[in-house]
Amino acid sequence: MLDLKRFRIIDLTREVLPGVLKVNGEYLHGREFRRFELRQFRYSPDGTFMHWIESETHVGTHVEMSAHYVDGGKSASEMPLETFIGEAVVLRFADLKPIDGKGQPIRPFHLKRVKKGEIVLMWSPYKGDEAPYISPLAARSLAEKRIKMLGVENVRVESSLNFLATHDNLLKNDIPIVEGLVNLDQIKGDRVFYIGLPLKVRGLDSSWIRAVALEEIESL
Ligand SMILES: [Zn+2]
Repeated sequence: MLDLKRFRIIDLTREVLPGVLKVNGEYLHGREFRRFELRQFRYSPDGTFMHWIESETHVGTHVEMSAHYVDGGKSASEMPLETFIGEAVVLRFADLKPIDGKGQPIRPFHLKRVKKGEIVLMWSPYKGDEAPYISPLAARSLAEKRIKMLGVENVRVESSLNFLATHDNLLKNDIPIVEGLVNLDQIKGDRVFYIGLPLKVRGLDSSWIRAVALEEIESL
């Protein structure tokens, strides 16, 4: 049996803060850039509490699938479950410093440690425009290595310089992309066991997930 005591569990998920419902029926949005609205109601047979949710699918930590980019592409309920579970390599880009406030490209030579068929997690300490971005050639290299999935924190999947190259290379090839990861900097080693499952909703282009990394505690 899997012994959890042998692992550190790192929560890679950003907490979603729903918009606050005001008395006039409008929602006040704080940190969330996109709509995520919860409305509590009482379930009439027994008076228990439930919520209506109104939201976009790309809020918080989410995994997007080919249905996001290709009309009729695979959606959350059609992708094999194994895609979202497995060994992941962690690539850190602290050395890829922004120049004049602009993030720099991640190139194929940065991907040397990536093995065929594994999940790739990319992290940088730079935010917004200063964050590195995936160059078109790097996106193609990830597709050629047939990675299982890409996850990012402070790494731009797209920028004005590589418009849709990552979507084109990955999503078209049924390689999902996880956006909005957090806490990748708490991973100590180069590889972890990653789990981040989408909701099983037919037709969903992208799903909110609870993503975790299991990192083996050495010295055992
Ligand atoms: Zn997204």
